[in-house]
Amino acid sequence: MLIIHQFPCLSDNYGFLFHDPASGETAAIDTPDADEYLRQAASKGWTISHIWNTHWHPDHAGGNLKIKSATGAHITGPANEADKIPGLDRPVGQGDTVQLGDVSAHILDVPGHTLGHIAYHIPSQMSAFVGDAVFALGCGRIFEGTPEMMWQSLSKIKALPAETVLYCAHEYTAANARFAVTIEPNNGALLAYADDIQARREKQEWTVPTVLARELACNPFLRADDPGLQSAMGYPGDAVATFAKIRQLKDNF
Ligand code: ZN
Ligand code: FE
Repeated sequence: MLIIHQFPCLSDNYGFLFHDPASGETAAIDTPDADEYLRQAASKGWTISHIWNTHWHPDHAGGNLKIKSATGAHITGPANEADKIPGLDRPVGQGDTVQLGDVSAHILDVPGHTLGHIAYHIPSQMSAFVGDAVFALGCGRIFEGTPEMMWQSLSKIKALPAETVLYCAHEYTAANARFAVTIEPNNGALLAYADDIQARREKQEWTVPTVLARELACNPFLRADDPGLQSAMGYPGDAVATFAKIRQLKDNF
């Protein structure tokens, strides 16, 4: 069983290290802050042997070279933006498999936030590291792709087993909840989730990771195929247009 160590870094990122006791290997998911990652690994007695990047943004790949020069870490990252990933050793894409010891992660291409964004799904751990593709009650801004591309990407995440634990890269949940309740004011599961989030944030508790089942019931960006939501947004039968509308409303919220 892998050990996942989560810690806050930069202003609102989460860092993740996961460690395989059997092989002694440790993977860093993204590298927002090299010094903090090295400190956290040392505090556990681990050496970062692998870096798994989700996308090229500096709050995800900015610490690659410093960690690599400190530990010799092997860097895996998105093939479709390989030229933007510092120190990349192994470019990967949809259908590829990455190993940490005996544990396999399956790569999903989830473009939209950036054109090469990937997610790491680890079936044996019921987990996925989703970067900035999906957040608790939110999704990444569409900086490089199109709403249709992003909806296709979110549809891949929606298709994972509902009990999958989603490790998102940012603590954006309180703001996402304030927006989500304006989109589905009558969604009882969402209202309960929003209350729960507010209470947890008042105690400075983390709202990441989340679980896919709860996001399927509450996250408006994953619910653009819901007929009631489509009608409310003015696009019955059109998930892409509904998704685009919700994303546009959030961008201006
Ligand atoms: Zn990003
Ligand atoms: Fe980010």
